[in-house]
Order: sequence, then structure tokens, then C-alpha cells
Amino acid sequence: MNIYDTHTHLNDDAFWDEIPAYMARAKHFGVNEMNVVGSDTILNARAIELAHQYDNIHAIVGWHPESAKDFTAEQETILIEQLADPEVVAVGEMGLDYYWKETPHDVQKEAFKRQVQIAKDLHLPISVHDRDAFEDTYDILKAADVRDIGGVMHSFNGTTEWLKKFLDLGMHISYSGVASFKNATEVHESVIATPLDKLLVETDAPYLTPAPYRGKQNEPGFTHFVVQAVAELRGMTNKEISDITFENATKLFRK
Ligand SMILES: [Zn+2]
Repeated sequence: MNIYDTHTHLNDDAFWDEIPAYMARAKHFGVNEMNVVGSDTILNARAIELAHQYDNIHAIVGWHPESAKDFTAEQETILIEQLADPEVVAVGEMGLDYYWKETPHDVQKEAFKRQVQIAKDLHLPISVHDRDAFEDTYDILKAADVRDIGGVMHSFNGTTEWLKKFLDLGMHISYSGVASFKNATEVHESVIATPLDKLLVETDAPYLTPAPYRGKQNEPGFTHFVVQAVAELRGMTNKEISDITFENATKLFRK
């Protein structure tokens, strides 16, 4: 198989001292390309470093909503420098997270809007994190009009109603290990309703470990199990899903 993990955090401390081992395991599972995603200056720098070391790693750099309070003007200048690196394929992860209560919504919204504008200025796609904040996330993306740059709703966990709204904005939809959870009925419905040309897969490792390894630490190789879950839900083969999602990711991130 030929799998593209469109969102993983191999730059996380969970992996940092054993990168070659995790890369070998990814290859074993057929995960031949991956986007390593940053969330602040240090993790962004690590993502870029990995992208320079490995041909099949690409960097996505930006500021996660939980780090938004530290996204100062000075950090924004550093981000713009990091985005100039040729190994960077998208801006993110950015967005809104109303599940964790530590960062005020206004601060998150401001950091999100600034990054969407930067992505538009540089003509790069965006990687969007949305947790319990569908309305505000949708409003910001709609107001900014991101159709020209495109992007992805990463680890999408919304209903088919929200799915349609984000598709209408021109966004791709990426599914994580949540698609393999037996009780994730809404996500299953959205997996089935996503047009094949907008479909992507990811691990979000070290988080969101798919079945049958739920409860253990996730890793990029496990995208294989996400492919399997999506294939089962859609009544297609693993190879069909891996080929389609690989091609979609290549078009979106490496054009
Ligand atoms: Zn992530």
C-alpha cells in the first residue's frame, strides 16, 4: 500500500529520540509520505528540521489554538520566516479549541484570523483544528474566503451538516483514528458522506490511536488502521482508499 499521513506530530517529545525507528515502522505499514505538524516556534522548527532530513516528510507550521496566547507579533515574524522554508507545505495547525478552557476565545480567534491571512498572502493551504467550536471556525473561514488556498479540517469529528458546510467553503476533510471507534456514529456518517476527491487520512499521532491499539501511543504507521476503518465504512478496499487519499494529499499539499 501507499499511504499519506496528512497530519502527525513526529516532532513531539514522544518520538523525538527515536525518529529512525518510527520512520522504519511507518514504511513497514506502507506510510510513504507524511506531514509533520507544528504548533509553536520550537515544534515548528523541529518539523522543518525533519522535513530537511527525510524526503518523504513535509512540514506544516503554525500556532495551535491552545498556544495562541503566546502568538505575539515577535512570534508571528518568526513564523513568517519559517513559512519561507521550501519544505513547508501548509500553515497550521491553527483554529479554535473550546474544549480546553485555558485560552480565551477572543485570543484564539485573533491568532486564527491572523494565520488565515498569512496563508492567503503566501498562497499556502491551511490545516485547521476545530474542537467544540464549529460555528466560530466556520464563520472565520467563510469571512476570509479560503477557497483559493484550500485546506483541511483535520481529524474532523462533526456531523454531516457541518461536513457539508465546510465542503462548501472548499475544504478537504481528514479522518483520524476516531473513524475506527465503534461508538463514533456521527464520524462514521461523515466518513461515508465525504466526496472521494475531498477525503484525506491522518494519525494525529501521538494522539487518537486507532483500533485495535486504542489506549496505546499512536504513531504514523497506524494510518494503515485509519485507511482500513474508512474502507470498511465505505465498502471499498484498503488499496482504493489509500490510493485516493494519497493522490488527494499530493494535490493539496505538494502542488
Ligand atoms: Zn494535531
